[in-house]
Amino acid sequence: MFNSLSDRLTQTFKNLRSRGRLSEADIDATVREIRRALLDADVAVPVVREFTRAVRERSLSAEVSGALNPAQQVVKIVNDELVAILGGQTRPLHLAKTPPTVIMLAGLQGAGKTTLAGKLALALKEQGHTPLLVAADLQRPNAVNQLSVVAERAGVPVFAPHPGNTSAADDPAADAPLIGDPVGVARDGVAEARAKLHDVVIVDTAGRLGIDEVLMRQAADIREAITPDEVLFVIDAMIGQDAVNTAKSFADGVDFTGVVLSKLDGDARGGAALSVAQVTGRPIMFASTGEKLTDFEVFHPDRMASRILDMGDVLTLIEQAEKAFDTEQAEKMAQKVASGEDFTLADFLVQMQQLKNMGSMKKMLGMLPGMGQMREQLDQFDEREVDRIEAIVRSMTPAERDNPKIINGSRRARIARGSGTSANAVNQLLDRFSQAQKMMKQMGRGGGMPGMGPGGM
Ligand code: GDP
Repeated sequence: MFNSLSDRLTQTFKNLRSRGRLSEADIDATVREIRRALLDADVAVPVVREFTRAVRERSLSAEVSGALNPAQQVVKIVNDELVAILGGQTRPLHLAKTPPTVIMLAGLQGAGKTTLAGKLALALKEQGHTPLLVAADLQRPNAVNQLSVVAERAGVPVFAPHPGNTSAADDPAADAPLIGDPVGVARDGVAEARAKLHDVVIVDTAGRLGIDEVLMRQAADIREAITPDEVLFVIDAMIGQDAVNTAKSFADGVDFTGVVLSKLDGDARGGAALSVAQVTGRPIMFASTGEKLTDFEVFHPDRMASRILDMGDVLTLIEQAEKAFDTEQAEKMAQKVASGEDFTLADFLVQMQQLKNMGSMKKMLGMLPGMGQMREQLDQFDEREVDRIEAIVRSMTPAERDNPKIINGSRRARIARGSGTSANAVNQLLDRFSQAQKMMKQMGRGGGMPGMGPGGM
């Protein structure tokens, strides 16, 4: 999302780095470049103005720190100010003292509300909550169905004016509004959550293609009827400059407690993301980064600033790893290695699967510091590589996995056929594996713990 902005800012800092001391003229030139980069990224003008004013002032007043050279000081100031416009602190979801916590979603049609409802429900469920989804979007009959599908994928129940997967989806007149009262459905949904002891209830509401009085009034009415603990305004980060006006209209019409940025995986210029917190005075709480239910993150302003400045987001990376990794498995593996037992292809397969659980490798690698400089290589990274390796190992017999040395020419050809790869690919994998195995042996001897995975990846 922030690639181009990120490149521009990194370049600006690189130019600074060659200077020992910074004159006022140097600082002004830098601030000008930053201003241009932000405007080109579609950041709202008042936000840019305030941002550059702060950066200039602080850079000039030379916050002297023995640990940092002048260029590093400017980077630190820009980082601090980015964190500030992104909202400062991470803002966690406020849970109600007496459940259920009522969360209402609002936003334009296509913003990603329904998808977000599923993502949020899944994340809450994983934290031990028992969410109920409520389909109060009666504007598009398909929306009810879509929410039912999302709920099923997330493994959470849904409260709908009529069961999902019924005639609504097949109805040729599916664009006609459902007969029903969205305010009533929302109210009943919350009552249902209370009766069935769900501790969180997420109410999906109708969006229109544009800002519209009736829509606003309906959302405001729902808000009044269910007095939500949180109203999350979902905004498509790809819509550029329009985002700011849309956000302002919703802030005036419905008001909200937090923002969710969706489609942050897209290649828009990111200005919306950088403007919305400042312009509305509401925190960005979550980010949606893809179509899968797991493409969802808590929004941390400081980590996002780090990513924009290409300083990496190692904390998020570690969290994703912790979520995906099975600690019991990891301990077993560590014991195995420590006891000098052989690391087998079956173990290798387990590690591959854990890597895959972490989600897109590209996304993960992109969170490492300095990766912005390697974007081209990163773009060439083929996510299917992990699948290929898995297919190869799966095409081996248990005996072959235990002792790859028995893999001769005809076995190799069979494995290549079975996995839809080539004899060459099988060879490459066996080579890499044998290196990994040696490494594991050395670690075992030294009593160390194995790392995340075989060095071959
Ligand atoms: P709603 O009308 O606000 O409920 O929006 P939907 O949840 O139906 O989303 C509209 C479209 O955007 C769907 O095709 C979603 O799959 C897609 N979408 C939602 N969130 C994301 C995201 O974070 N990234 C990407 N790439 N697509 C998304």
